[in-house]
Amino acid sequence: MKVKPIKCDGLRELLSDSPLYRKILLNPEIAIDPRTLYDFGFPFSCNCAEDPQTHLLKLEDYTIKEMTDHLTYGFGPGDRSKKYGEYRLLDEIGQRFIEKVIGQCQNCKKDNPMFLIEFFTEKNEVGEYYLYGKKIGQTPPYSVKAEGYVSKILSKENLDFYRKALMNLSGNYGIGAFVYFRRVVESELIKLLEQVSELDDPKSIKVKQLLEEHRLTHKTPDLLEEVYGFLPESLKGLGTNPFKLLYGSASVGVHKLSDSECLEKALSLRYVLDFVLKKIYEEKNEISEVKKHLKNLSID
Ligand SMILES: [Zn+2]
Repeated sequence: MKVKPIKCDGLRELLSDSPLYRKILLNPEIAIDPRTLYDFGFPFSCNCAEDPQTHLLKLEDYTIKEMTDHLTYGFGPGDRSKKYGEYRLLDEIGQRFIEKVIGQCQNCKKDNPMFLIEFFTEKNEVGEYYLYGKKIGQTPPYSVKAEGYVSKILSKENLDFYRKALMNLSGNYGIGAFVYFRRVVESELIKLLEQVSELDDPKSIKVKQLLEEHRLTHKTPDLLEEVYGFLPESLKGLGTNPFKLLYGSASVGVHKLSDSECLEKALSLRYVLDFVLKKIYEEKNEISEVKKHLKNLSID
């Protein structure tokens, strides 16, 4: 089969990071020739390695045959121009098809995750069709297990809330997930900065001073603004102040947001929170170990 795999950030997000039933905008070329799904690359965790591995999307032989037959012959006489999965409802024409796809790990070559994906078009306000995808099945299931660094940095109580947030995410409960993540951020934000102030870093002393001032003034926005200049470089990796992002998200009024808006916010909040937890964990462990050895070897 000589069809080039599609380029589509939405599809990568759908396969690698999305819980079930989350609707994601896709490249419309998939609807024109769904065989472009074949060999699409995306990261996914595999038992063969600790870090996520590149997986290539595979379709069953009979699926490819069905798609090829459709694109070559259509559905039969008079139906040649019909698009794949096309339906007509009154004056509405759309496309909808559900495909079983498999991810093959490029490290161990084993077939690993299996997804059931619903592809469907929806008309926007100006009458154009957009293509969306939604996972409706996945094995192994969307993980509700917190990463190792998360459980090592968060307090026991907040780890429990974090896990509840993941459970809400996996069930597509956006408001629930967002509220649990916010709860973690609200009660953990200052504690995280305290952990930063304990790091073996020359700038830590400044972080400590700012925290002491904060204990008297309680002006959290000022603290977060000023602390940025004294964070370890690794915590600045997003190119913006992650603590301000976390604090800002915790002050958004949930009552104004729909469930799906909350789901998107919960996913972003998790991304930034995980980033901060991972960097603090690395600074506390691996990096402090490296610094210790460098100190031992330095000649002065
Ligand atoms: Zn593997």
